[in-house]
Amino acid sequence: MPSCPRCDAPVDDEARYCAQCGAPQTEDAAEELDEYVQRQAEQVAGGGGGGSEGGESSASDAFPSMEELSDREQLWRRGSYVVGYGTVVIALTRVPAPESWPLILAGIAILPPIRRLTAEPLGSPLKREVMAGIYAVFALIGIALFVVL
Ligand SMILES: [Zn+2]
Repeated sequence: MPSCPRCDAPVDDEARYCAQCGAPQTEDAAEELDEYVQRQAEQVAGGGGGGSEGGESSASDAFPSMEELSDREQLWRRGSYVVGYGTVVIALTRVPAPESWPLILAGIAILPPIRRLTAEPLGSPLKREVMAGIYAVFALIGIALFVVL
């Protein structure tokens, strides 16, 4: 019995794909998979256009808004990192003053990976606005402690 070149699982003589990892076992299967992936990519990019003029123009119509969205997403991510790390660094210089701890929490809360971590127990990621709100609350507590003490 031959074995899968990718995962070494035994593969049936007739099998076109590995039952263990899904790797194609024949040239035909590999080509078929390539075509399938390409079709999926085209569908995602252009809404399934058939490669005609019409399909292309509809794809270019769809792109600006998508790019705009990802630009805003990028900007938000970068801003969150800058604000988060900046806050943590400033807070660390104030340790062990009591205001440093809420500021550290605030900085950590706004870092983008935290949204992914909290998505696990909560089922869905918290909105960016929620993270910004948590940041604002902790930052205000920190600033208040700084002013009061
Ligand atoms: Zn395999």
